[in-house]
Amino acid sequence: MEVKFAVKRYDPITNADKSTQTYTAEVDEGDMVLDALLQIRDEQDPTLAFRGSCRTGFCGDCTMTVNGKGAIACRTKVKKAWDGAEDGAIELEPLKMSRQMKDLVYNAREFHWNKFRAVEPWVDPVQPPEKGEHLVPGGHDKHLTESMRCTQCGLCDQGCTVLVVDKTFVGPAALTKAYRVVADERDSRKRQRLDKLSLPRGMWDCTHCFEASEHCPKYIEPTDRIFDLHDMAIKAEAGPPKVVHHYKSFAASVKAHGWLDEGRLAIETEGFTNVKGLMKLLPLAVKAGLKGKHPMPYMLHKKRPGHEQIKRIFEKWESKG
Ligand code: SF4
Repeated sequence: MEVKFAVKRYDPITNADKSTQTYTAEVDEGDMVLDALLQIRDEQDPTLAFRGSCRTGFCGDCTMTVNGKGAIACRTKVKKAWDGAEDGAIELEPLKMSRQMKDLVYNAREFHWNKFRAVEPWVDPVQPPEKGEHLVPGGHDKHLTESMRCTQCGLCDQGCTVLVVDKTFVGPAALTKAYRVVADERDSRKRQRLDKLSLPRGMWDCTHCFEASEHCPKYIEPTDRIFDLHDMAIKAEAGPPKVVHHYKSFAASVKAHGWLDEGRLAIETEGFTNVKGLMKLLPLAVKAGLKGKHPMPYMLHKKRPGHEQIKRIFEKWESKG
């Protein structure tokens, strides 16, 4: 099968323009994109740069953009990419949100490693036994075991809608790594880690858009793991008190009225004793009032039809602990 590849090239030494070079290769139907790139480099162009290591989808090293979408080159069939090619060639570029270093090689240190390092992805054990293995009490739960399958390919970061606007956000890939450590019963720094993850640009900047889960080739569900981190932080009352107040107030208001009591949420998030914080809300309240929005808090907030059923759902859930 004869296939064309349009590769976005760049050489930092000659500082050449980022031009596109087209290669034609004879490949087998079962070949992966990484196989084709290795063949092109061996037979046509030894200057072509790309990453690749295990060739089994295990190391996450050969991540790149194939026909506009983030992909693992060693797990992407050439035939499928060729069928989906729109301009007569399979388009190959480095990962979109990272800095191109040379051809298909992106700056992994900036994009991944610094963020992974920031979450300190190693277990600091509580009290290792004097002899033998330090096993997890009760065994690993399902999600913890799943998060260990993360290859650090970074495709969840590629899909992240927060990183598009703020590259300093820690991102779902590093947060999945953080979950793996925080959820490990043997770790002695759970609270400290949750406090650190609650800092600006940390886990609370996630908008829950679920794009990270959509992009994960290992079905690890990074968005759900971020939710789990949030739940653990609320339970441990870690991070800024405002966050815990906000979540508790949100749930209490929906339980009481069947829908959100925005006035109550604003007051309880700031905290009754935080006069300065409450005063800051005044201009917003006035603005909302002038636009015809009058959120009446507490007893004055209208209950939605069917609120009794919603309350019962909460009670059933709470009775399960
Ligand atoms: S969570 Fe999934 S997409 Fe994100 S780095 Fe790990 S394996 Fe890749």
